[in-house]
This record gives sequence, structure tokens and C-alpha cells, in this order.
Amino acid sequence: MSSPNAHTPTAENAEHACHYCGTTEKDDLRPYGPGGSWVCFPCATATPEREQQAKNAFGALLDGAAAMSPDNAVMIGTEQGPRPVNLSAPPAGGDGRG
Ligand SMILES: [Zn+2]
Repeated sequence: MSSPNAHTPTAENAEHACHYCGTTEKDDLRPYGPGGSWVCFPCATATPEREQQAKNAFGALLDGAAAMSPDNAVMIGTEQGPRPVNLSAPPAGGDGRG
């Protein structure tokens, strides 16, 4: 693996790093930082200002996700933040039986 200049700003494979402390090792990074940047939970709640910022970002994502779902249903607790859920449609992806 020798790719010295493999800096691609794609969200897919980019490693998430906390906006404040820069950690990439936390499992609880969430896109609730300024401008949708990633923040870890300890940093997001470190100050009242950050906590409010995170709440605002969460609320905006929640509203946006709910607006995208035909059932106004939102799944939370995922790494990507709130995501729209289509309760009428079958779950995506193959059934992993067997
Ligand atoms: Zn952090």
C-alpha cells in the first residue's frame, strides 16, 4: 500500500475524524459538527455551545430525513445520523439467510 498522495475527499472511504480532537478511533463519531463535520461524543458535549450546535445539526438532519421518508419515519442511532425510513418498502439488500 504505497499511495503517497491518495487524498480523495469522497465521503465513502474517507476516514472520519473528529472536528475538534481529530480522533478517528471513536465509534461514536457523528456528523453534528460545524458545517456537518464529524465530531466525537465527548467533544460534541464538551461545552454548552458545542452541545447546542450538535443538537441543531441533529435536528436539521432529523427534519431533513423525515421529509425524505414517505412515512415520515426516521431511523436514528446510525453512524450517518438520522436517516429516512420507508416503512412501506421491503428492506433493501438481500436476505442474509443461510
Ligand atoms: Zn473529539
